[in-house]
Amino acid sequence: MAQWPTVNPEAPFDPGALAARSASFEGASAEAILAWVFENLGHLRVGCTSAFGPEGCVLVDMVRRMRPATPVFTIDTGLLFDASVEVRRAHEERGARVVVVEPLVSLSAQAERHGPRLWERDPDACCAVRKVEPMRRILDRLDVWLTAIRRDQSPTRANTPILGVARRADGSAVLKVAPFVAWTRKDTWSYLLTHGVPYNRLLDEGYTSVGCRPCTAPAAPDGDERSGRWQGRAKTECGIHTL
Ligand code: SF4
Repeated sequence: MAQWPTVNPEAPFDPGALAARSASFEGASAEAILAWVFENLGHLRVGCTSAFGPEGCVLVDMVRRMRPATPVFTIDTGLLFDASVEVRRAHEERGARVVVVEPLVSLSAQAERHGPRLWERDPDACCAVRKVEPMRRILDRLDVWLTAIRRDQSPTRANTPILGVARRADGSAVLKVAPFVAWTRKDTWSYLLTHGVPYNRLLDEGYTSVGCRPCTAPAAPDGDERSGRWQGRAKTECGIHTL
């Protein structure tokens, strides 16, 4: 790791240095990137998020092995599949330090305020309440956010840097680290199967990306792996990766 720039502790997220530092990690293994984070930024609040999709399960497993105390924040929208809750519990049983964050607005309060099944009429508004607002509260608890997104998952993720910046509601920066950006789906499954990592059983039933029940279907035959999300709509992201 000697070739990688060290972090200025006075300005760890200096935007001028971030792009060069991110570029220096291209070609490095995910484990090496995470090791650098824990070694250089371990004094800060480092945590990951996971919805326990395939890459999220890899991240949770890798982080648990490398630094078991790392919190794993996950958002329970109240609309998850039972299979998604089951895989979350399986990782907790293996020692992952899972922190479940729920929306401030219950489903019944949302229905009273916006009418029933908001996700059918305005999924952006629904995601804002059930995913983005909880994610903002998670960012308030982090300085370094580890995430499992990959560039080849969808066109909207194609330019994701290894090191980027997310913004809290007050505009302050959180370092966003994406160690798997260069991975393929094959890399993900190779890791899961080699290490015997629990994964969502829906992935064996035609689903390639699993979110909330009302907005998730098996992938379209000719679509990318997120094509089963919000099918029939232009929407491709819930919004947490635009913060
Ligand atoms: S994925 Fe669907 S149900 Fe879940 S928060 Fe977004 S719009 Fe609502």
